[in-house]
Amino acid sequence: MRVYNTLNRKVELIRSIHEKKIGFYACGPTVYFYAHIGNMRTYITQDILRRALIHEGYSVRHVMNITDVGHNVGDGDVGEDKVRMEAKAEHKGMDDIINFYTDKFFKEESILNIQRPEVVCKASEHINDMLELIERLDAGSYLYKASNGVYFDTSLSKKYGELAGTTFERMNKELKAGARVERPQGIRNITDFAVWRFAEHNEKDMVWDTRFGRGFPGWHIECSAMSMKYLGEQIDIHAGGVDHIPIHHTNELAQSEAATGKRFVRYWVHGEFMTVDGHKMSKSLRNIYTVDDIIKRGYLPMAYRYLCLTVHYRNMLNFTFEALEHSQKSLKSIYAIISRISALNDTGTVDKNLAEEIKTVRDSFFSCIEDDIDTPSALSKLHALASLAGRKNLSGAECSRILDVFLEFDEVLGLRFNMHLSSALPKEAKELIEKREDARRNKDFNTSDEIRTRLRKEFKISVEDTDQGTIWFSSID
Ligand code: AMP
Ligand code: ZN
Repeated sequence: MRVYNTLNRKVELIRSIHEKKIGFYACGPTVYFYAHIGNMRTYITQDILRRALIHEGYSVRHVMNITDVGHNVGDGDVGEDKVRMEAKAEHKGMDDIINFYTDKFFKEESILNIQRPEVVCKASEHINDMLELIERLDAGSYLYKASNGVYFDTSLSKKYGELAGTTFERMNKELKAGARVERPQGIRNITDFAVWRFAEHNEKDMVWDTRFGRGFPGWHIECSAMSMKYLGEQIDIHAGGVDHIPIHHTNELAQSEAATGKRFVRYWVHGEFMTVDGHKMSKSLRNIYTVDDIIKRGYLPMAYRYLCLTVHYRNMLNFTFEALEHSQKSLKSIYAIISRISALNDTGTVDKNLAEEIKTVRDSFFSCIEDDIDTPSALSKLHALASLAGRKNLSGAECSRILDVFLEFDEVLGLRFNMHLSSALPKEAKELIEKREDARRNKDFNTSDEIRTRLRKEFKISVEDTDQGTIWFSSID
């Protein structure tokens, strides 16, 4: 398996620290608002990578944090904590905000068939781990006090900025020239960042009394401390969106390597943004859509997952409902084929060449996935398999071989193919669908509509008639 490593700017073969094991850390959501489908694109990319590694035979330990404290508005360590600000705006406790948006996030992840990481860890429950790391940095004289917190001196970090393809000097010069980021008083370098922020307004929620002062952790120290706790001082893969490269991941890397003297991460994997009309999808631009918005407009969540796979994760994806519609159509055509061949009776004859063709398609699909998770090319192989499945006179053995390959592809794609197997339908529902097809053939549309209503009410199944035949969707879709 090869992935593009942001650190070296090359596609590299994955060589794990421990044989056949992968330690995988992904930066999780800041739970102050609904995650939008742009955020979900990043988590879908990570889910595909995780599934691909598992398919390759790795045992993956995937750790994801929940940032419930310490992520400030703006990147300059001067803004307010995002969760605290939302709690004030909604006149609620921070806990209420955190619980509500965390639950919502995991519901949406499961709707999108994103597998839950082995470890999900909340920042606020790991304050001691963060303090231990801060102590280590302090012992190495990397820290100093400024007006609003304890800061890491980035000039002491070897190769600071390397991940972002720059240097400490260049970054400081550029930031100074642009004066883009407001910085607190008393900091030594513009790029320095708080590992511990002092409480400012008599806050009671989410502040801790420590020898570094009363306050709360910086966002970057959270990920360093939690990844070390659950994956050790060195990890195989660290993932996130491209916005994390210049600040969050650059700072995580600097402080982790300062504390341990070891290389922190082998492969940095970053997903490109989702845009809307050419602009980054973000709450502040008010151009966000959520998974609920997609469902409300009648789209299958799996169609959104499919749409994400149509664009390579390192390219921008401009979201439009037309593109979603197109993806849904393609996905439904695959569902229809799966439904059809899983219901076929053993009537055809064996074609000697077909087994070889299936194998070629299968192998080339996995070559695409192994090549830096090239999902657009992998989808073209999926459709190549669908055209083999569309051949006339398939034997029972051929149908089941093709189905096995569809299901094997889906171990990586996660598009819920198994829900469209004929065997996934309850017997009574299957009989009703057959009756409905008979009724339609006889142009008895009243009966066909009645059956459609029964299927929806009794089995929560909706049916749709397509060029490839009738397909059904259960309510989870
Ligand atoms: P946040 O909750 O803001 O920390 O973001 C959660 C994840 O979503 C991070 O990995 C971000 O890099 C990523 N992200 C934020 N906006 C977008 C976007 N428009 N498209 C894709 N990923 C995004
Ligand atoms: Zn992080």
